[in-house]
Amino acid sequence: MNRREFVVTSAVSAAVAGLSNTAYSAGSGDPDVIVIGAGLSGLETALTLEENGLKVLVLEGRNRVGGRVFTLFDVPGHPEVGGNTIANAYGRCIAAAARNKVEIVNLAPRLFANRAGQELFIGGERIPLKDWVNHPRNPFAGEQRKLAPWAWADDLFKKHMPFRDLENWHDAAHAQYDISVHEFLTAHGATDAMIKLGFDTNIAYGTTSHDVSLLQQAFADHWQTVNRGAISAFSRTGASNQMPAATPPAGAPPVAAPPTAAPPGLLVGAFKSGNQNLPIAMAKRLKGDLLLNCRVSAIEVDASSAKVTCSSGRVYRAKAVVCSMPFSTLRHVAIDPLPEPVQHKAIQTLGYIPITQFHLVAKKPFWLSDGMSPSMWTDGPLGLVLAQKFGKTDDEVTSLTVWARGLNALYVDRLGMEDAKRLIIAEFERLRPASKGLLTVAGAHSWAADPFAAGDWAIFQPGQVRELRAAIAKPHQRLFFCGEHTSVGSRGMEGAFESAERVSLEVLGAV
Ligand SMILES: Cc1cc2nc3c(=O)[nH]c(=O)nc-3n(C[C@H](O)[C@H](O)[C@H](O)COP(=O)(O)OP(=O)(O)OC[C@H]3O[C@@H](n4cnc5c(N)ncnc54)[C@H](O)[C@@H]3O)c2cc1C
Repeated sequence: MNRREFVVTSAVSAAVAGLSNTAYSAGSGDPDVIVIGAGLSGLETALTLEENGLKVLVLEGRNRVGGRVFTLFDVPGHPEVGGNTIANAYGRCIAAAARNKVEIVNLAPRLFANRAGQELFIGGERIPLKDWVNHPRNPFAGEQRKLAPWAWADDLFKKHMPFRDLENWHDAAHAQYDISVHEFLTAHGATDAMIKLGFDTNIAYGTTSHDVSLLQQAFADHWQTVNRGAISAFSRTGASNQMPAATPPAGAPPVAAPPTAAPPGLLVGAFKSGNQNLPIAMAKRLKGDLLLNCRVSAIEVDASSAKVTCSSGRVYRAKAVVCSMPFSTLRHVAIDPLPEPVQHKAIQTLGYIPITQFHLVAKKPFWLSDGMSPSMWTDGPLGLVLAQKFGKTDDEVTSLTVWARGLNALYVDRLGMEDAKRLIIAEFERLRPASKGLLTVAGAHSWAADPFAAGDWAIFQPGQVRELRAAIAKPHQRLFFCGEHTSVGSRGMEGAFESAERVSLEVLGAV
């Protein structure tokens, strides 16, 4: 990066280089709109408002753009710490990539050509998948014993989810299902031991089955289904859907090997050379200023104007403000006047899942020595270990991502990052002695401890869909809301774009 580039695109260069950029050069007068947050939803909103003739100022607390899209550009294979993959139902993301001239790479063929599977470790013991069905640690009953722990809950949801609906999942007609996933699973015969292993371990929504609404699960589940399963975190490893090949009884036909070709048209998409390239390209297209290292600490609004104060004491004024901050961080910002009580409660209490990641690089492929897959599903501190394969050949392992989720993430976070890294390496070496001395932590991130995220993705807790959902994105005088937590018919990166579409119309109608 030369000096000229830094000056011309200072915000973007700083984002990549990790430099600070706090200079304000907005030119004359106040902006029409202040957008808080330079993640996908904030950037898309800012660009749309600019395209419609408004002057926009973006304030971002971090020293980079992208928010929960965050690529480790300096780790081999540039693994993602945040948003991983897009899929077939990500129409807005796909269009945004085209608009911003960012190429989408379809990982599906590579993943299917190279399905190495994942090892199962429970209680520190490796359990070959073929032995799982009869293993004493298998808590499941009847036919469910044939399911791997990661497939059990999905199977139950598939069979018993009371409805499938992306647009109206939150309607009053479904209110009776705003109960805990625990209550639902128990009603379908699950024991606590089954739920603990089959849902709570390496959880996707909530910290345990008690604190996530079945409605939330139904929505997320159906979103996965319309995306043909392509957006699960496993999808980047090729380990997804790999079912245990139980030893067939004598005389039974052999278990079919998993397919090695991707189903036609399946998209497991990532943005070329790192997902963060999309928000970087979007930031480059902004006409107005994007200020990094600008942590918003207060927002004041009335019927015709907005005032935003940053922790530096700097004050910015506009006709309106759009807030893309997750509610987990907005709850630490002073809003005056307070939003109406239900919206205020939503800001204060909406759930967020804790996730902490460690990105490991191996000096030698120890998995060739111990003959196991580098990917693992464990009920210990390692949680999920996903081999990232972004080398020159399909099967080259460029790094290993350790995903601690839910209670496991809260536990490793409490150790402090340095001790947590030591624990991860020690646990790895205990489970896989062949890795001894070969692993280093090339990157690590706690989303719960991150002051600008304070959690990973938003979740509705039992009762919150009925009570809070409708109030979440309501404009509050000249304060408007976007962000994945305000989306209705989609999730994740696509939800961020969906929310930008809605809030842009609201602002254009008001300002
Ligand atoms: C580990 C992980 C894996 C994921 N995997 C996927 C996936 O495979 N597919 C998918 O679709 N989605 C995935 N997601 C979710 C996806 O990344 C997010 O839903 C999306 O990026 C959210 O965009 P956003 O604009 O709503 O929020 P954010 O990206 O969080 O943007 C909000 C911005 O506000 C800023 N901010 C916060 N507080 C302040 C403050 N006080 N002052 C100023 N600025 C502030 C933040 O720094 C941030 O830049 C994943 C996320 C994570 C973390």
